[in-house]
Amino acid sequence: MQLKDKVALITGAASGIGKEMAIEYAKQGAKIVIADLALDAASKTADEIRQAGGEAFAVAMDVSSEEQVDKGVADAVAHFGGIDILISNAGIQIISPVVDYAFDQWKKMLAIHMDGAFLTTRACMRAMIEKGRGGAIIYMGSVHSHEGSPFKSAYVAAKHGLVGLAKVVAKEGAKDGIRANVICPGFVRTPLVDKQIPEQAAQLNISEEDVIKKVMLKDTIDGEFTTTQDVAQTAVFLAAFPSNALSGQSIVVSHGWHMQ
Ligand code: NAD
Repeated sequence: MQLKDKVALITGAASGIGKEMAIEYAKQGAKIVIADLALDAASKTADEIRQAGGEAFAVAMDVSSEEQVDKGVADAVAHFGGIDILISNAGIQIISPVVDYAFDQWKKMLAIHMDGAFLTTRACMRAMIEKGRGGAIIYMGSVHSHEGSPFKSAYVAAKHGLVGLAKVVAKEGAKDGIRANVICPGFVRTPLVDKQIPEQAAQLNISEEDVIKKVMLKDTIDGEFTTTQDVAQTAVFLAAFPSNALSGQSIVVSHGWHMQ
């Protein structure tokens, strides 16, 4: 077990990639805080982990709310005695050409992806520094932390922003043994991507099959989707890494789409 007795707070862990990371972390011995907007689904994930013999509890958290983030992190610290790992993973997608992108939608995207990363980082860093046992912070970036794609201006801007935030947190956190890194997955079949396939088909006037083959997977080395398990394994590796040698970096997990 690579994460025995570590406490991990994972945002957006009621679904998709976050859920898989929560289940994998629990298998590796971590105690899990499932922080999600969707409390019912978060509680179900926590139940699943407990039924499999792990430790988990759910907190309701809108990551763009300062009050809810600070309360959720305080509840997590009270419940498990500290936080060792933060995975800032909650995210949504809103696609539209720049010229049609509504300002309130832009602000919503930046609030969830950027404010959410900042607020959870600040609260968890404070808790990590107070306990004095170091920590690992992982941001869920994307290949779109390094590449651009049409219709995804807010998403691409926010995912690039996470790389900048991780670099600063790595520098500020080093003296307290806190590392910060970004995972950059390619396309993963989750509800977030399933929703985009028909939307992109309509936007581009092509079939859904062509969205998958000619848009989403066209630059991979083997035409394969990345899996939630691929991302979860990378998240275990980053959290378990034993020194500050690996900090302030981003790792692309994408079947070769965007080689650095
Ligand atoms: P998903 O839709 O399956 O899960 C996202 C979760 O985030 C949901 O449980 C949702 O309730 C939660 N959430 C949404 N808004 C929230 C908020 N304001 N506060 C708290 N929780 C909130 O999506 P996913 O595909 O698992 O995406 C997870 C992360 O991975 C996102 O940051 C996404 O950008 C990133 N990502 C996904 C892919 C992909 O192809 N699926 C690729 C690269 C990066």
